[in-house]
Amino acid sequence: MEQDKFASVLVVSKKILSEYDLCDNCLGRLFAKKLRLSSYKLLGKKIHKKLGIQNKKCHICKNVFDTLHYYIEKMQDSSSQYQYKTFLVGAKLRPSVLDRDDHIRSQFKLRGIDGIKTSITRELAKQFSRKTNKRQNQAEPDLTLTVDFKTESCEAHSKSLYFSGRYTKPTRDIAQKQKPCSNCLGKGCVSCHRHGMTEFDSVEGMICKYFFDKFGAAQAKITWIGGEDTTSLVLGKGRPFFAKLLNPKKRKLVLPKTISSGKIKIHNLKQIPKIPQGPIQFLSKVTLYITAENPIAPESLAKLDGLAGNTVAIYEKSGKRSEKKIHSVKHALTSPNSFTLEMTLDGGVPLKHFVYGDNIFPNVSDLISIKCALEKFDFDQIQIR
Ligand SMILES: [Zn+2]
Ligand SMILES: [Zn+2]
Repeated sequence: MEQDKFASVLVVSKKILSEYDLCDNCLGRLFAKKLRLSSYKLLGKKIHKKLGIQNKKCHICKNVFDTLHYYIEKMQDSSSQYQYKTFLVGAKLRPSVLDRDDHIRSQFKLRGIDGIKTSITRELAKQFSRKTNKRQNQAEPDLTLTVDFKTESCEAHSKSLYFSGRYTKPTRDIAQKQKPCSNCLGKGCVSCHRHGMTEFDSVEGMICKYFFDKFGAAQAKITWIGGEDTTSLVLGKGRPFFAKLLNPKKRKLVLPKTISSGKIKIHNLKQIPKIPQGPIQFLSKVTLYITAENPIAPESLAKLDGLAGNTVAIYEKSGKRSEKKIHSVKHALTSPNSFTLEMTLDGGVPLKHFVYGDNIFPNVSDLISIKCALEKFDFDQIQIR
């Protein structure tokens, strides 16, 4: 039976080879599935031998399989800086190679067989794996190597890493977000070393700097759990955040419990499988430093006590209305026309508007019947619910 199949393969092969010169790999590929053989090269060799035909220059691939060792070296070069266990190989071929492959397959009605691209990446992966002892993984490789046969080069790109952590900001005058690179507006370019930023003087910049230095990441995207002002302190256990690292070189590092980066500290930085989806509910314990236009009578401050246990309504420009709860309130006069207000409240209340603004009801100015301004505010604790 198998013998019969092979005989019919020889007949078709003879027809094909009378028109086209094919290499062992490309010839064997056309019939390997039919004969349930795994090595294209060995099958092609066998057919060539039986028919007494020699291959000079493959019509489809121009003998690319003889040059793969050169590309394996390129793959080793471009992967050398990466820490990885598993990889995937992709290839960019000249369109003419793919066209010639398609043409022969349709001319001889050969269906259900691997294309030339699959054949090449399969061979590259096999040889690369043998050289490096790394495993192939199609679904979720640590590293993807893309070999470009047009430019004779190889590019490596690693799978993103995800982290959760918290930061504390013990000094004032540090913005939360970093100004993007003025040349690329954050996309990443040569002048910012692909980071999308050139300075590291914000919380974001200081967190990213750590990831760039330690993990060799190209970029880091931070997901914030709430925000603060440039003048705010962030104390306690710190503000939680998530980070996605793009194209990291390192994947496994032992991280200290507390990390100093610039003027901030990062706590409990941990790798996580994915960044949680959807909004994250949190509670903030804040201290507001408020000044009033006129001297404040202590009894009018007491009106703020009614906030505790109640909700405030926030009217957004979009017309959306939301409610946030104030859990506790404490106040203290610090001068005839200034006071501090300590509160625990749901995350996401715009605090400036909460002191004076017509889109939050009730607000501090209305409650004490004096126009007030928020001078600054600090976060004493932030807690995920
Ligand atoms: Zn070929
Ligand atoms: Zn740039």
